[in-house]
Amino acid sequence: MKLTTLGCWGAYPYKDGGTTSYLLTGHDGFQLLVDCGSRAVTELEKEISPLELDAVIISHYHPDHVADLGVLRHYFQLYPKHLWEPKILPIYGHDEDAYEFGKLTLDGVSQGLAYDVKGVQQIGPFDITFIKTVHPVPCYAFRIVEHATGQVFVFTGDTGYFDDLAQFAAGADLFLADVYLYEGNENHIAHLTTKEAGEIASAAKVKRLVLTHMPPVPPAGIAPDNHLEILRSQTEAYSNGIPVELAVPHKSWEIGDC
Ligand SMILES: [Zn+2]
Ligand SMILES: [Zn+2]
Repeated sequence: MKLTTLGCWGAYPYKDGGTTSYLLTGHDGFQLLVDCGSRAVTELEKEISPLELDAVIISHYHPDHVADLGVLRHYFQLYPKHLWEPKILPIYGHDEDAYEFGKLTLDGVSQGLAYDVKGVQQIGPFDITFIKTVHPVPCYAFRIVEHATGQVFVFTGDTGYFDDLAQFAAGADLFLADVYLYEGNENHIAHLTTKEAGEIASAAKVKRLVLTHMPPVPPAGIAPDNHLEILRSQTEAYSNGIPVELAVPHKSWEIGDC
């Protein structure tokens, strides 16, 4: 399977980059949108037609993960019907926020589906399991296994540190981690630090660690001109030799080749 970055800033769009959104493409061509932050539709159009999406999955309902869901639904609702064969877009999310979950469904356009957080959710070629993260609102990390190839992709969603995350990520071919914070802010209520992400990747023995949800502007004390390289190198200092990369819009990984 292939993972393509659409947006990787945490919290808010900045300059010409959007917030969390990734396209996961199965070996069979299945197109799954993972979170739908700001600019997701714009950046998706540079990869595929949004109308080619087969499904969407949402980690949680903070605006930086769902900002473009409304306009994505408009795309499916209003794109001229004589130019494509209309279909209903499945949007998977948790149902622990009834108001936000209810918004996933638009009659005749999209269908909100509560994913099975205690079992295995099958979506196209993927078998997905879940773990609730440490975050101010309910949020789930995803462990996505492509059943034909056995390739494993783990996405943390938004999360602070918790012990079970390393086990959840064990052996992943690609581990995509929320690293919004620099070393020194450990045990935060909402996000991982560089040190924590590196240590989790090491404990989980993942093959590759990719940083996402990165801070658009660094805090005081971190040089703004190379703050992302500082984020990366801080993480790598704790990853025990596991390669650490930054997500960048339109950067992609063939997960089986990691
Ligand atoms: Zn976020
Ligand atoms: Zn969040």
